[in-house]
Amino acid sequence: MEIETLKEKYPLVSDLAAEKETFWVNPDYGQQAKLCTTQSDLFDAAARFERFAPYFASAFKETAKSHGILESPIYHLEKMKCSLTQRENYELLGELYLKADNELPISGSIKSRGGIYEVLVIAERLAIAAHKLAYLDNYQVLDTPEFHDFFSQYGIAVGSTGNLGLSIGIVAAKLGFQATVHMSRDAKQWKKDLLREKGVIVVEYDGSFTEAITAGRELAAKTPNVFFIDDEGSVNLYLGYAVAAIRLQKQLRDQHIKVDADHPLFVYLPAGVGGSPSGVTFGLKTIFGDDVHAIFSEPTHVPSVALGMATGLNEKISVYNLGLDGLTEADGLAVGRPSRLAGHEMRTLLDGIATFDDDRVMAYTAELFDQEQIRVEPSAAAGFAALRAAQPILAKKYPMTHATHIVWATGGMLVPDAEFQRDYRLGKALLTR
Ligand SMILES: *Cc1c(COP(=O)(O)O)cnc(C)c1O
Repeated sequence: MEIETLKEKYPLVSDLAAEKETFWVNPDYGQQAKLCTTQSDLFDAAARFERFAPYFASAFKETAKSHGILESPIYHLEKMKCSLTQRENYELLGELYLKADNELPISGSIKSRGGIYEVLVIAERLAIAAHKLAYLDNYQVLDTPEFHDFFSQYGIAVGSTGNLGLSIGIVAAKLGFQATVHMSRDAKQWKKDLLREKGVIVVEYDGSFTEAITAGRELAAKTPNVFFIDDEGSVNLYLGYAVAAIRLQKQLRDQHIKVDADHPLFVYLPAGVGGSPSGVTFGLKTIFGDDVHAIFSEPTHVPSVALGMATGLNEKISVYNLGLDGLTEADGLAVGRPSRLAGHEMRTLLDGIATFDDDRVMAYTAELFDQEQIRVEPSAAAGFAALRAAQPILAKKYPMTHATHIVWATGGMLVPDAEFQRDYRLGKALLTR
C-alpha cells in the first residue's frame, strides 16, 4: 500500500512519519482471539528454567545465591515518582515500581529471559536426542568437559543490536557451542568486545539490525548443525520472556501488592522488535487476566511496533518505508521492522503504544540515578516515557486510585562506567535546562 494512502486511512501514520510524540490506543484490545501460545506453554517454559537451575548455579557462580534462578528484584520508586511528576507536570495516581531487569544475571538485561531460554531449549533437545541426558537428571552435569565437547559440534547464531547477542553468546559459548553474533552498526563497541572476550564470533555489518539479522539467518541456513535464533519471530524467545510473569506474581504477593479489579496493574515496556514486551505481556495476561494492562514505548525515530500494529501490516512495513532514519540513543530499540509474532499476538492483548523523543530517555536515565541510585541504559528508561504519556488516557478507562505502575527497566548492569557517565552527563544537562 502507498504511504499516502496509509496516512489517509490511519491519521497516526502521519504523526509517526513526522517523528511526533504520539499515543496509539489499540482498538482491538480485550477482544477474543486465538493465540499461538497457551498457559501450558508458559508453565512448560518455567519448568525448563527450573531444570537448568543447577547448571546455572554451577557454571555461572553469580547465580548460586539464587540457586541458579535468573530473576530480578522490584523496587518501590517513591523519590523518582515525586521528581518525575513535578518535573514533567502530571498526576500519577497509585504506586510506582521498577522491575529491575537491568540487574538480571549474565547479560544484565531482559534478554537473559528470552535469549537464554532458547539456548536451553536447543541444548536440552540435542542432549536428550543423543541419550546423554534424561529429564530427571541433575543438569549440573551439563557443566562438564564431556558435554562441552558434545555441544561443540553445533553452532548457535543470532542477529542482535547488542543485548540479545550478549545473553545468547555468553551462555551458548559456556555450554560449548560455537556461538556467532551478527551485529548492526548501532551495537555498542563494548558489547562486541565483551562477546569476543567470551569466545564468541562477532560479525559486524555497516547496515541496520534488519540487514544484520537477514544476513545471519541466510548464512546459518546454509551451514549444517547451526541453529539460528530468530528475533523476528521465535516462539521460544517469547515464552522465555513470558516466564517473568509467573515470578512477578509471587514477588507482588510477597510484598502485599494487590492486583484485582480495584487495584489494576499497569506495566510500561520498551519495544524494539517487540518480542520481549510481547512475551512479558502474554505471561502477565495469562496470570492476571483483565486486571493487568500493558503499554509499550518506542522512540519517535523507530516506532516499528506502533507502525506495524496501527496499520495491521505488522512485519510487512518498516519505519524506513516512512522515510524515518531509524536512529536512536536507545540502541536496544533501534529496530526498524517489528517481529512477525509480536503484532499478531498483541492485537488483542496490548492496551497501547507511546512514542518518545530521545531527550526524554536520556533525562530519565540521569534522574533515576540521581533519585534512586539505579543505573540503567537509555533503552531501559523508555518505560517512564510511556508512563507519562498514558496517564490521561488510562484515567478515562480504569479506576486509578489504587493502581500499581511497573516501569520495566530492561538493561544496564554491564554498561561500562565511562559509557554510563556519558549517558548521565547528557541526561543531566537536559534535567537542569
Ligand atoms: C532488546 C531490548 C529491548 C526490546 O526488546 P525487543 O524484544 O527487541 O522488543 C528493550 N530494552 C533493552 C535494554 C533491550 O536490550
